[in-house]
Amino acid sequence: MLNLFAQEISKLTEQMVKEGQKPYRATQLFTWIYEKKARTFDEMSDVSLKFREVLKEKYCLDLPSIHLKQESSDGTIKVLLSLSDGAKIETVLMRYSYGNAVCVSSQVGCNMGCSFCSSGRLGKQRNLTVDEMIGQLLVINQLLEDEGKGQRITHVVVMGTGEPFDNYENLMDFIRIVNHPKGLAIGARHITVSTCGIPDAIRRYAQEGLQTNLAISLHAPNNELRNQLMKINKVYPLEVLMPAVREYEKLSGRRVTYEYLLLADLNDTKENAQELIDLIKGTMGYVNLIPYNETNLCSYKRSSGNRIHLFLDYLTKGGVTATIRKEFGSDIDAACGQLRAKVEDNLL
Ligand code: SAH
Repeated sequence: MLNLFAQEISKLTEQMVKEGQKPYRATQLFTWIYEKKARTFDEMSDVSLKFREVLKEKYCLDLPSIHLKQESSDGTIKVLLSLSDGAKIETVLMRYSYGNAVCVSSQVGCNMGCSFCSSGRLGKQRNLTVDEMIGQLLVINQLLEDEGKGQRITHVVVMGTGEPFDNYENLMDFIRIVNHPKGLAIGARHITVSTCGIPDAIRRYAQEGLQTNLAISLHAPNNELRNQLMKINKVYPLEVLMPAVREYEKLSGRRVTYEYLLLADLNDTKENAQELIDLIKGTMGYVNLIPYNETNLCSYKRSSGNRIHLFLDYLTKGGVTATIRKEFGSDIDAACGQLRAKVEDNLL
């Protein structure tokens, strides 16, 4: 059985043609599920009864269900979703002044094994399917609709659990559905993919001709430090990663965001800031400084507010554009993988 929410529109068009249908059927079905929010085939009143039966035999409209929901005083919502095989994934809604951003997971668990991140602790169980990724957005859109304030998702960041480029094909179909005017109709410039840095996938992503954004989890300005924090750096050290990022910029014409987690006395010194400036000099990229969300799974500490501001000043004076990431949900388990890890450990 195929899930209709997993179908990218050109693939669905092909399937409809194979069924002996007119190509417009695909658009019609997209309109039903994304615009009119039909969740059963019987609601699709302008689809003949006979064809509805065909659809029911071949397709389902299953979505993840909410296992747990936490809401922060700042309005951030984190849901732990239950998938059809019982796996649990996290999705977060963040309310910015400019819109509603949803942080989407791309895998159940993660294999990248970054030493500071709770998502990787249990390893990767599997990739998420396209419908499981789309489902995260539909569940959040429903929550927004239930609030009755006419709000909807305006931004999507693939920055939840998992390495999106380790689930490349599904990620691309997901992006196409999110971006399609008959799908979730979210502009490409409002879609961001965050990666730990896989050069081949970065090059491939550059070739897609998308106007989406790319964020690189850099977190360290030299190999010695980055090896400590991110295992992937031993496979793709900075001298291999950075040329791919530069190529991406050249090909796509898009500015890259470098994410830089600030860990007290580890990567937050003036010298580190200077190394970072030297590393990204000549790229169009800008740095997003992330205050570390401490977890009890490792001993890293967040840099002090003062340190974070000094680091920012140093970068700015060195000619690098940088911002400090706004924090959300500090009174709930909003940090990466925290809620799932707690539930798996039976702490909730
Ligand atoms: N695998 C992808 C996307 C998932 S991680 C990637 O590496 O980019 C999303 C971001 O959250 C990454 O920048 C990651 O380094 C960061 N992150 C992980 N644990 C964190 C924590 N405890 N506090 C703050 N940021 C964290």
